[in-house]
Amino acid sequence: MNKEAELTLHYDVEKFRSQFPVLSRVVNGKQLVYFDNGATTQKPSLVIDSIVNYYSSYNANIHRGVHTLSQEASAAYENARKKVQNHLGATSDQEVIFTRGTTESVNLVAHSWLRDRLNAGDEVLITGMEHHSNILPWQVLCEEKGAVLRVVPVTDSGEIEFSSLSEYFTPKTKLFAFTHVSNTLGTINPAKEMISLAHAHNIPVFVDGAQAVPHMWVDVQDLDCDFYAFSGHKVYAPTGIGILYAKSARINEMIPYQSGGGIIKTVKFEKTEYIDGALKFEAGTPNIEGAIALGVALDYVSAIGMKSIAAHEHELLIYATEQLKKINDIRFIGTSPHKAGVISFIVGNIHPFDLGTILDQQAIAVRTGHHCTQPLMQRFGIPGTVRVSFGLYNTKLEIDLFMRALEKALKMLS
Ligand code: PMP
Repeated sequence: MNKEAELTLHYDVEKFRSQFPVLSRVVNGKQLVYFDNGATTQKPSLVIDSIVNYYSSYNANIHRGVHTLSQEASAAYENARKKVQNHLGATSDQEVIFTRGTTESVNLVAHSWLRDRLNAGDEVLITGMEHHSNILPWQVLCEEKGAVLRVVPVTDSGEIEFSSLSEYFTPKTKLFAFTHVSNTLGTINPAKEMISLAHAHNIPVFVDGAQAVPHMWVDVQDLDCDFYAFSGHKVYAPTGIGILYAKSARINEMIPYQSGGGIIKTVKFEKTEYIDGALKFEAGTPNIEGAIALGVALDYVSAIGMKSIAAHEHELLIYATEQLKKINDIRFIGTSPHKAGVISFIVGNIHPFDLGTILDQQAIAVRTGHHCTQPLMQRFGIPGTVRVSFGLYNTKLEIDLFMRALEKALKMLS
């Protein structure tokens, strides 16, 4: 796959829209406008069909059967791992672990890798824009070990001040964990530079890619991160499947924190010998159809082209931001020039929940609240925001409908 391939010359958004059955839904008597892609994306027929096909044609447990169905299911599951490897540019499919999602991936690193390396007085470094999923597992481990969770602050525009980042690295820092793209602010962090700086201080890096993989090419070798996580459901695949990429050197250092069937060479009551590689961390029967469908979803976005998707979403971001600027008393939370298609805002003293409810009555689906980033809300002194987040199938026409609905909602609330 050539990640630098040309942009799709004609981005046929109507064609893509027709591939997502739910987009034709009518809600409250109006055509649905789905702007909650940061929470989860809708699924194309190809992905839905791959699940139906799995259960209709070759449902079987994997890795343990000699019969045809089991071999077909095992091959499809392992083929999906290869697709993820290719998509992320990992050196081996054995660096790709299937998990339930980003949250489980963070917990996996915390318990299978960091637990044995973290001692009292050590530090784990995160940033002020992390999702709760990239805070809590580290916080829990720090509390247990008597270690310290340190936080790189966020600027008024919703960025990390790169020039002062190295001040937060100390000889006690055992891991730097940060989000590639903020789910609340939309900020795209300069991940490669941040990783390189951490490595210059001999600090391994975990990157939360939940909001990056759906919107841009991610190349883990180019980034040189130690760990990278994302969730299938945010990239047009089903819920309950996600990825932890770990460099092979890190995989070899990890010890499974869940054990059980499917991850062993030999089991004796005295001692168990584990298999090598990614499977060691997938105890029990995994989400077979989810992994297969994730492979299909990655093929789907690759065929459109991540650069094309990024360019389309960027156009929507610029257009919607320009429209929203016309609203009196609007305050944008997250104004970095480097943003994915996410806009968070509040208007005057109006509670985001009230706006979201009236927008829903007009079939506009947005997210309201703290977006699982309460410390970030505290940083900006607000209870929450209205968040609009775009996917590959959104259009400028939908933004126009949203703006009309928003103006109506604001009239009702003022
Ligand atoms: N990190 C970020 C940046 C996210 O946006 C999310 C989901 N909102 C998560 C982590 C958690 O993902 P999941 O719930 O799929 O585990």
